[in-house]
Amino acid sequence: MKLFKILSLSAFVLLLAACSDTSNRGADSDKLQIVATYSIIADMTENITGDKAEVYSMVPIGTDPHMYDPLPADTGKVSRADLIFYNGLNLETGKGWFQDLLEVTKKTDAAFAVSDEVTPMYLTEKGKETQVDPHAWLDIRNAVKYVDIITARVIEQDPENKDYYLNNQTEYVKQLTELDQYAKQAVEQIPQDKRILVTSEGAFKYFSKAYGFESAFIWEINTDSQGTPEQMNRIIGIIEENQIPALFLESSVNPKTMETVSAETGVPIHSKIFTDSLAKKGEDGDTYIKMVKWNIDKVIEGLSKN
Ligand SMILES: [Zn+2]
Repeated sequence: MKLFKILSLSAFVLLLAACSDTSNRGADSDKLQIVATYSIIADMTENITGDKAEVYSMVPIGTDPHMYDPLPADTGKVSRADLIFYNGLNLETGKGWFQDLLEVTKKTDAAFAVSDEVTPMYLTEKGKETQVDPHAWLDIRNAVKYVDIITARVIEQDPENKDYYLNNQTEYVKQLTELDQYAKQAVEQIPQDKRILVTSEGAFKYFSKAYGFESAFIWEINTDSQGTPEQMNRIIGIIEENQIPALFLESSVNPKTMETVSAETGVPIHSKIFTDSLAKKGEDGDTYIKMVKWNIDKVIEGLSKN
């Protein structure tokens, strides 16, 4: 009798394991399991899924999603994911880290680029004009396109909760549209010739086009070498020629290079700014909406100085 009990218990455990295997979900939860490559996409996704999914953000806050070495925990999460959202547009490409991860985990079919509906912009440096610039999310209208793709894929996986997801989408897109209007009006406060945004990485192409800025940078994309003598001379020239009053430092790059530019030109770094990562939870800029609002306010404040 005792033996029979032990046997049936282990059979039950095996059955449970088999169930969680076929549903491809985490053993501890029957919620939809979603992986986002970095914090910005994770936040957009959570705005749609609310408490109906577990969203795991892979690249840590404050670091660079262009280049990343996945940890064993990441491999586990990706293996068990129902959906994997990534930016695409040449973002998660450094040393092929993301592609390799999908191949190792055999999850290529569960991965979706949220940028699929975006009109790509290209790098501008000589010889790189055919390479796509990934930072499309900094134009809020593109964020709406990301959210549309996220919502459609989530509904495909969990059609029972379709209305819930669609309501969340409507509410979130309303907030994004208001933020887009806010950005367009805020820009009017700075004179046309002062609208030049200097950052370390050239991450503001989409933003600049959408909101009427010009952007200047030390290096064009994080996968480039950072702070070569040519890059330093060029950016210092631009700053002096245009009498730029303020520099900006992204939260997800090494600060040293911009600090050197500031020391050499005597122009202060006005503020940190968010491009490829949200802020830590509880700090200013810890959601996509808050990070973009922070960027707009700090840029306006910095460039309004004489
Ligand atoms: Zn970047």
